[in-house]
Amino acid sequence: MNRFSYTRANDVSAALEAHRAPSAAFLAGGTNLVDLIREGVARPERLVDIRRLPMTGIEPNADGGMDIGALATNSAVAYDERIESRYPLLSKAILAGASAQIRNVATVGGNMLQRTRCHYFYDTATPCNKRQPGSGCGAMNGVNRIHAILGASEHCIAVHPSDMCVALAALDASVRVASDDGERVIPFDAFHRLPGDTPHIDTNLRDDEIIVGITLPADGFAQHNAYVKVRDRASYAFALVSVALALKLDGNRIEEVRCALGGVAHMPWRNRDAEAALRGKTLDAATVRDFASAMVRDARGRPGNAFKIELTARAIERAFEQASGISLASREDDAS
Ligand code: SF4
Repeated sequence: MNRFSYTRANDVSAALEAHRAPSAAFLAGGTNLVDLIREGVARPERLVDIRRLPMTGIEPNADGGMDIGALATNSAVAYDERIESRYPLLSKAILAGASAQIRNVATVGGNMLQRTRCHYFYDTATPCNKRQPGSGCGAMNGVNRIHAILGASEHCIAVHPSDMCVALAALDASVRVASDDGERVIPFDAFHRLPGDTPHIDTNLRDDEIIVGITLPADGFAQHNAYVKVRDRASYAFALVSVALALKLDGNRIEEVRCALGGVAHMPWRNRDAEAALRGKTLDAATVRDFASAMVRDARGRPGNAFKIELTARAIERAFEQASGISLASREDDAS
């Protein structure tokens, strides 16, 4: 482990000031950062402990939505009664992730900034463009079972590992960030980035900024929603594929759909054109299957992960069944 200095900030401006040092990193829950330091992947020269910053609140806002502080723990958010009743999709997604112990210390801001779980990223003996730009990508022709089928580049095929962020993307949340220039708001789907030729940059957060919170819009799609997570173990495993689905229905007619995918791309994945095409349609097996096909139309599989294309389509269909309570005929049933 490399040597680093440690400082504790009591307010946002002090945190930003301390973070200006070369190679400084904010420390909150530490559930990812400490692992990265232990593995030699992250080598900060200064840790700025921000746990005393007043950013743990979960409060209604003037627009009818909710503001959640960046230092609210995942457990505090998931079990907040207002979140459970108004934004159950968010609670479900958070509780599908990690373990109870990790959720008790992991923060909202840290969850958004967690790095990929690509095996090669954590193995400093292998090439990885995300860890060391220009070194190559070990996963491209290696073991890539957990890797991206959508939005990847020739430089990186890693996926974003969060469950919480998939729900936030479906809910059209926004991210509040602060710098010496004041605060700005980043729409959630503009926060994370696709890898392109700069896979070492995960988000559009600037170096001189800190996340202060997220804002949930008034509409939480509480009536019809589902979070479907497909993984290798029943708990404490990252998603091979996940689907956060929020629906508005008038009987069997689809008024609105939001669908975000996890485990398949470098960021939570949405296709707003496919969503828009569903409006006004009758919710039935054929409609959902067409939508699922549209969601994976641009997917590209590799030898290790091509199975995720069909898995994603089926997980989407499962999510529609769960969210609507309407039984959709299975593919096998249709074929018989
Ligand atoms: Fe690194 Fe991305 Fe390749 Fe994984 S997929 S080895 S994170 S460049």
